[in-house]
Amino acid sequence: MFESSPFYQSALGQLLSVIPHTSLEPGVVERLRVPKRIITVSVPVRMDSGDTRMFMGIRVQHSLTAGPGKGGLRFAPTVDTGEVVALAMLMSWKCALLGLPFSGAKGGINCDPSAMSIGEQERLTRRFTAEILPFIGPTVDVMAPDMGTNEQTMAWIFDTYSIVTGSNCAQIVTGKPLETYGTLGRRAATGMGVVYTIEEAARRINLKLNGATAVVQGFGNVGSVTCEQLALRGVTVKGVADVSGHYFRDKGFDVKALMEYLKSNRTLAGFPGIDADKVSVDDFFTQPVDIVVPAAMEHQVTGKIARNLKCRLVAEAANGPCTTDADMVLREAHKDIFLIPDILCNAGGVVVSYFEWVQGIQMFFWSAEEVDNKLQQMIRRAFILTHGHATARGVDMRTGALALAVEKVGKEKAKRGLFP
Ligand code: GLU
Repeated sequence: MFESSPFYQSALGQLLSVIPHTSLEPGVVERLRVPKRIITVSVPVRMDSGDTRMFMGIRVQHSLTAGPGKGGLRFAPTVDTGEVVALAMLMSWKCALLGLPFSGAKGGINCDPSAMSIGEQERLTRRFTAEILPFIGPTVDVMAPDMGTNEQTMAWIFDTYSIVTGSNCAQIVTGKPLETYGTLGRRAATGMGVVYTIEEAARRINLKLNGATAVVQGFGNVGSVTCEQLALRGVTVKGVADVSGHYFRDKGFDVKALMEYLKSNRTLAGFPGIDADKVSVDDFFTQPVDIVVPAAMEHQVTGKIARNLKCRLVAEAANGPCTTDADMVLREAHKDIFLIPDILCNAGGVVVSYFEWVQGIQMFFWSAEEVDNKLQQMIRRAFILTHGHATARGVDMRTGALALAVEKVGKEKAKRGLFP
């Protein structure tokens, strides 16, 4: 059951902790605690060996109040119901904070994509799409990439959905390739958003990015763009990490060279000299740098790590990267550290997903400049709103962000009423 998942428990704990900062009735809170739908399907796949294997696929719609469900689809061996339920709940708050006409959803398939061929991944994706077809749609639930999935995965979903329903439906998923109704700017959107929120935060704590230092955990779509954009702003990226390990180099990494290396190598391991830079996760996060960016996955920053942080800014580029303990440390013992909460920090991805969905509905496509301008507007506005709310209420940024978001979803529920 999802209730026993530590990640769900920390997401629920966050929700309940902000209720006193809202005006919501208990009946509405009751409805926000649990997801509206959990769809679990068995996905049979013919493997290259000729064997048939079953995979467990999940789609969770936390709420359907504010519009269609929206959220990524993740392929990872860690996927379980509790994780997906927690991530769907975070998507509800993220969409609400950014004022998007979506409700929170998330999906996952328990598998190890790095051990599967492209053909196996395609058959898995297409069969999963067919299995959950009655529960998705451009006005029902719209998926997007997340850990272990990418533009190609979205193209397969778009194609499968369109073939099976007999009509071309560009708005069924976002994060599609440009060739199939994708939008300019979607691939870099999450990392760009992360850096825009870092700029806003840095200004408020008088941190000059030019000359600042950072460590970034994760070098996937989000982490690599974040590193690249920080470096462009004069930040020395002293720490990088991926599945192969955590690496710290005091004189900083050449981010461009790392990105180049990854074009022909699967992981950072083997990059010239990097093996000598290997450090433990704890040492990685607790180096004396200005900015710490967890951009990998949930529950990476523990209470122990949080107590030993020496930075001025934590930017949560991943969803739920802090454990409940770490959250408490940051809120109480480490008030000196400015926290940019996940639902604000990494919202750039879903914001540009929204732009892609709108473009798909209209079949009218925007320039890269238009996408970036609108992204900046929405992210910076949400930052200002959150910071203003937190400051006025005398609460931390996470509480401020969640209070705004939860209040919005709760009020929508209250206004729509309870059927029957
Ligand atoms: N997977 C991303 C997230 O966690 C993007 C979701 C989307 O674009 O729908 O926010």
